[in-house]
Amino acid sequence: MPAKGTIACALSACDETENEDLVFVGVDFAQEYKEEEETIAGVLAHEWGHLTSEFPHGINPDELSWEEIFALRKSEECNADAYAGRMLYLMRYAPEGLIRFLSKPKYAKETHKYHSSVTRAAIIQRAYQHAQRQQQQIQNFNLIPNATFRNLMTAQLIGVA
Ligand SMILES: [Zn+2]
Repeated sequence: MPAKGTIACALSACDETENEDLVFVGVDFAQEYKEEEETIAGVLAHEWGHLTSEFPHGINPDELSWEEIFALRKSEECNADAYAGRMLYLMRYAPEGLIRFLSKPKYAKETHKYHSSVTRAAIIQRAYQHAQRQQQQIQNFNLIPNATFRNLMTAQLIGVA
């Protein structure tokens, strides 16, 4: 189990976890960042991203080459970062805590395995802004008068009753 030296990790629901999704946070990381809620939220959101991922369902890792596994892991990390960006926006946390954390040389060995901090920051920012744009579009839509459309089928059913 992760303790010292681990930032965080996620375990999908299985018999060993009593069918619960679990996220572990490393002791050193929790100690160092206990005052930085924004950073902790970012790291947790990234791990939640791993829990919602489809990998490795339907794929037998024994049949993959090292290069293929690496490529899958790389795209998996991208997806978790994009998920974190969206979640941070939805939870109303700024993405800068996570982005600052990813640029720390101290954790580079663990955080830059698949992408540089610059690439990861770009993915997180882009997903954050995308979620922000979607929220804005929903708000704009709700400003249109009579934006709620009548469901004719329901109206008929009510009419019959
Ligand atoms: Zn990850």
